[in-house]
Amino acid sequence: HIVSDEYKLVSKKWKVKPTRIDLGDGIAIQDGEMAIITGPCSIESEEQIVKVINHMKENNLTMMRGGVFKPRSSPYAFRGLGMDGLKLWYRLAKAAGIKIVTEVMQVSQIEEMYDYVDVFQVGARNTQNFNLLDELGKVDKAVLIKRGISGTIEELLQSAEYVFSGGNEKLILCERGIRTYEKASRNTLDLNAVPILKSKSHLPVVVDPSHGIGIREFVPQMALAGVMAGADGIIYESHENPDKAYSDGQQTLNFAQSSLLADQIRKTFAMR
Ligand code: PEP
Ligand code: MN
Repeated sequence: HIVSDEYKLVSKKWKVKPTRIDLGDGIAIQDGEMAIITGPCSIESEEQIVKVINHMKENNLTMMRGGVFKPRSSPYAFRGLGMDGLKLWYRLAKAAGIKIVTEVMQVSQIEEMYDYVDVFQVGARNTQNFNLLDELGKVDKAVLIKRGISGTIEELLQSAEYVFSGGNEKLILCERGIRTYEKASRNTLDLNAVPILKSKSHLPVVVDPSHGIGIREFVPQMALAGVMAGADGIIYESHENPDKAYSDGQQTLNFAQSSLLADQIRKTFAMR
């Protein structure tokens, strides 16, 4: 029984050995390896999915991100293809041996999404949706929890504790930038969080430079800075034609940029 508002089970005091997130088929996210997760902000069409999958296969990438339920600031913006999009994506990704990382926005979606998802993403707007975290604690699938938009490192760990204490230990922590007074970038990517999270928790830590800085041309260098900060993975947005993307095109890499970055991530990690 935990009396205070501390976290416990996700801490290194509870478990020293780093937690390995096994996604099956030899694909894992873990300390000592470098996971590369890429794909569009939003899943848009069959043609788009096929193009991303082909790009990923050319670069030996096995973990694909993409939203089918999109949390958009404006209700008039594209809000995703929903379950139809997820089922289409699942069929294509499965055939290609690619794992699916996608955001779940509310409790009622967990069950319908379950069969088609490898990693449930909890978005930065839902980091403290405690009902959602409780329900994800009961699920036997990996969960990637993003740091809240204005969330502290401790709050991220407490959110992870919700899921972990509910019985689901397959957790990945994600630094995706926080809101600060700085307006020159979309968010402030807090790379301090990487060594701090790694020192406090046994869970793997990934960095999202796309949402972290929000400016396409600077995403690669922030990704590599994340690798050097000690991240266990990088999650970034890519698209065949970012300027035509339905969401977050301004921070999305094209395939040539993505291929280069994937290569640089591997080389930088090998040097670390
Ligand atoms: C996303 O990954 O596209 C996304 C909406 O991320 P975040 O929750 O970090 O804003
Ligand atoms: Mn996005």
